[in-house]
Amino acid sequence: MTHLLHRSIHTPPRHAVSAQGLHFTDSEGRQYIDASGGAAVSCLGHAHPDVIAALHAQLDRLAYAHTGFFTTDVAEELADTLIADAPAGLSHVYLVSGGSEAVEAALKMARQYFTETGQPQRRHIIARRQSYHGNTLGALAAGGNEWRRAQFKPLLMEAHHIAPCFAYREQWEGETDADYAARAAGELEAKILELGVDTVAAFVAEPVVGATAGAVPAVGDYYKRIRAICDKYGVLLILDEVMCGMGRTGSLYACEQDGISPDLLTIAKGLGGGYQPIGATLLSEKIYQAFAQGSGFFQHGHTYMGHPMAAAAGLAVQKVIKQDNLLANVQAMGVELRQQLQAAFGQHAHVGDIRGRGLFQAIELVEDRQTKAPFDPARKLHARIKSEAMARGLMVYPMGGTIDGVRGDHVLLAPPFIVTPSDVAEITGRLSEAV
Ligand code: PMP
Repeated sequence: MTHLLHRSIHTPPRHAVSAQGLHFTDSEGRQYIDASGGAAVSCLGHAHPDVIAALHAQLDRLAYAHTGFFTTDVAEELADTLIADAPAGLSHVYLVSGGSEAVEAALKMARQYFTETGQPQRRHIIARRQSYHGNTLGALAAGGNEWRRAQFKPLLMEAHHIAPCFAYREQWEGETDADYAARAAGELEAKILELGVDTVAAFVAEPVVGATAGAVPAVGDYYKRIRAICDKYGVLLILDEVMCGMGRTGSLYACEQDGISPDLLTIAKGLGGGYQPIGATLLSEKIYQAFAQGSGFFQHGHTYMGHPMAAAAGLAVQKVIKQDNLLANVQAMGVELRQQLQAAFGQHAHVGDIRGRGLFQAIELVEDRQTKAPFDPARKLHARIKSEAMARGLMVYPMGGTIDGVRGDHVLLAPPFIVTPSDVAEITGRLSEAV
């Protein structure tokens, strides 16, 4: 009997009692390797002494201050740190409690930017099919995952969706990466023209698609083209790096590898590393100035925004990443993980694709490698792989995404940045057995 409402009512999860480094222990004493970082959250592993010490010190000093009354050194320092390393043009940080809140704030900043600058008709949001940007109603509406949206229609806001840049599924036979990138990005321009050039507020996309498609980076110069189209039509570019950001792909921000900078950037998950709930929306100087010279106010807020404990966790995580040079390990272990996945699954009759960046890698499962036909969703392959992996003491993040109504199963791996080659071998070995 439980009074907690679990997401899966008939199969409540196992009971975790402790975690250290890469390993969880459950109430029956079983151990699990955390090869998914929860959901790409635990970047430093569990029980990191530096983060624990920073949290203890912050708790002793000041646990909570409402931002309507006070700012705090720790929140200011986190904002300074994030901006010092942020993509060009981003100048300010809005601190919230998670990814969905960060996306909500970004959507509202985009809308308010246009009301402040006398263009209130610019209100449409364009996103990509099959995308996930959070579960609150605004973020859910922006996302293009039909399975998640269907239950809640009509949604409060209607976003417009274009095809994702998903080479394995959407690139034509013989089409070059450059041609495919041009075709996929061209969908954005066509949609802006269809809606009316001065009616679109923002385009939102995840540089490396995480949960819904399984570590899918864009190909060619897709994002450079997207940036150029947004600039041409005065549309704001929101990049959602809630899952792929904060070092997960080998650079602090994934979009660095695409060579572009957004107007708004959302982060969460690895920002707090699992030690505290925290998210943030980074905004450009242009948007900041519109607010500063307009109403002088951002029309939004949450009781727990800028929470000192959350900011202390974020700051401590950033310090450890730098001091231990963990991005170099993400790059090296990312290559190692890819090679081991290739060795284990490269010839597998039901693995159609192996992809990702850094310690954000996935395999896609197909009924038929030649036709890329996905498995029948009724077989719930992703759920079965998850339970087979758990039975072998391995936490991975499988999902059955919807691709324009076609389902595809994939398994996402996002281990903490501290993994070693032998951890990677253990993870791949157990995953092979589970698959
Ligand atoms: N955006 C993306 C890309 C995500 O992956 C997620 C969470 N999986 C969210 C937003 C929502 O974040 P949260 O669950 O912290 O609200």
